Amino acid sequence: MDLPIRCDHQNRPQLTAVCVFCGSRDGQNPKFLNASKTLGRQCAERDVRVVYGGAGIGMMGAVAQAALDAGGDVTGVVPKFLTEMEPQLDSLTDIVLTETMHERKIKMYEESDAFVIMPGGIGTLDETMEILTWRQLEVHDKPVIIANLENYWAPFLTLMDHVIGEGYAGENVRDLYRTVSTVDEILPAIQEDLAALPPQGKVRP
Ligand code: AMP
Repeated sequence: MDLPIRCDHQNRPQLTAVCVFCGSRDGQNPKFLNASKTLGRQCAERDVRVVYGGAGIGMMGAVAQAALDAGGDVTGVVPKFLTEMEPQLDSLTDIVLTETMHERKIKMYEESDAFVIMPGGIGTLDETMEILTWRQLEVHDKPVIIANLENYWAPFLTLMDHVIGEGYAGENVRDLYRTVSTVDEILPAIQEDLAALPPQGKVRP
């Protein structure tokens, strides 16, 4: 399987949709919730669709609602069992229902040109590790941006150093992601990473 990047008519990768991984809770730091809202708004302003887990709760709900409020498009990708457990956000542009969590993640990855990791819990960590593993295996070459707001992800980055130091991953694992420290850097970083990719062989309309 592979996940081709969408390209313009000259085969240059383009940013039309970004997948946001983030907490299903608000967390303790109100700056993170505000950053989620800013990211959602910035996506809408740049005409970048938000792809996310579909729920109206926590940071994930905040990103999506802010994008919708600013006139943007938001795709929620939700396993059917979750729709029975919790309310979905009203007025999503699209809802994609899947049978399983695994199918959901593949759909989220297919629909997106890049991935943003905001502060979150184990669901966010799971999605982060999976998308990095898939990039390591060259299943995709889509940019992955870790939003290390207020150094939230410092322990994770230290863990990566440890894994590399102990010889379980190569130094090049650090090239699988890019770290930024403010929300305003996220979309420009994605644009830069996409621009640095070679013209793509496969074009997805
Ligand atoms: P967590 O970081 O544990 O809060 O999990 C957040 C991530 O896991 C999100 O990016 C979602 O894709 C998924 N997720 C976790 N909890 C939910 C939920 N209640 N509803 C929808 N998606 C969820």
